[in-house]
Amino acid sequence: MIVDYLVIGQGISGTFLSYYLKQEGKSFLVIDDFQPNSSSRVAAGIINPVTGRRMVTVWLAGEILPYASKAYAEIGQQLDIRAISSKSVIDFFPNPFMRESFVKRIEEDDQYVHTYPEQNQFNPYFHYEFGCGEIRPAYLVHLETLLPSWRQKLLNESEMLEEAFDIQQLHVGETGVTYRNITASAIIFCDGAGSFDNPYFQLLPFAPNKGEALIVEIPGLPDQHIYKKNMTLAPLAGSDLFWLGSVYQWEFDNPEPTQSFRKNAEAVLKEWLKLPYKVIDHMASVRPATIERRPFVGLHPNHKQVGILNGMGTKGCSLAPYFAKQLVDHLLYNKEISAEADVSRFSRILGKQS
Ligand SMILES: Cc1cc2nc3c(=O)[nH]c(=O)nc-3n(C[C@H](O)[C@H](O)[C@H](O)COP(=O)(O)OP(=O)(O)OC[C@H]3O[C@@H](n4cnc5c(N)ncnc54)[C@H](O)[C@@H]3O)c2cc1C
Repeated sequence: MIVDYLVIGQGISGTFLSYYLKQEGKSFLVIDDFQPNSSSRVAAGIINPVTGRRMVTVWLAGEILPYASKAYAEIGQQLDIRAISSKSVIDFFPNPFMRESFVKRIEEDDQYVHTYPEQNQFNPYFHYEFGCGEIRPAYLVHLETLLPSWRQKLLNESEMLEEAFDIQQLHVGETGVTYRNITASAIIFCDGAGSFDNPYFQLLPFAPNKGEALIVEIPGLPDQHIYKKNMTLAPLAGSDLFWLGSVYQWEFDNPEPTQSFRKNAEAVLKEWLKLPYKVIDHMASVRPATIERRPFVGLHPNHKQVGILNGMGTKGCSLAPYFAKQLVDHLLYNKEISAEADVSRFSRILGKQS
């Protein structure tokens, strides 16, 4: 079998990389072993224009948010699904200090952070004695619909192998790569946490970060918003289900769900929510984060047939479409990748590898 590109992984990065390759009429094969606890399958899918307690505007928000909104709408149209919804974040202040810093933030710059005039609207559902504000525009990517739909399309068109990729069987030559009976001009790794052990990229400054979430059923809670107070509640597509998370753990022994997270998440929910709820599932995953919080995009400096689209950290839903497009434009038209994301910034480190 001869293809232009071999793509390893079909999380949100591999999905958009293959989407743009397809748009350009390139042939490819995606290999993905469907790990149920991979980051894209555990994520909430939130695209939030601000981040952290101080609600700092996220990197490249002005470019990346509108880009993502359009890209998800387009892929959704092609698949005949709803891949993204516009949902503002209702931020319930856990204490007077947080309310103060929200108000201060509005005074500095109110592009994304707003007062919420209907302060009593959420009284039937939540306890929030210090009021709430609104963050918008914000979006919710329906990963639970998008990832399987795109996968099915790839399967139908014989562009997907559902199995584990074994790097021992990869041969990288001068003009291309071979993997078993497959020949390609290049291989692109979109394998998330899989790249931590990849001999071509393991020296990159990854900073694995563990997160956990509960899936809870909350009949009667409106699904028009994402809700936040110490934790985040995000509606999932379909009947009364919500995603509740998360934590950011830099130190951990294993990637499994923990009792301590479940206990803490339920305590937060009990104190916040007025409605009855039922826990349906508990998931955990390791985010492919990086020390300097910027992705790794581009070709290996010593092996131009080996590339990477990874390091999406906590923001894969907004970053992956934008940088997948940059990578495809780089591969096909030699266009530049943003300097802060281009993996060539680590040429010296990667040069030590082989
Ligand atoms: C609890 C939690 C909540 C999150 N919430 C959000 C959020 O709300 N918004 C947001 O933007 N981001 C969120 N994130 C981060 C987001 O999940 C990641 O940034 C993003 O999913 C990374 O996508 P990826 O495609 O690069 O990697 P992954 O999602 O890890 O995908 C890698 C794929 O490669 C496959 N793979 C790996 N190794 C192999 C192999 N050897 N052979 C074959 N296949 C292989 C895996 O099965 C997987 O399908 C969250 C993460 C966590 C853990």
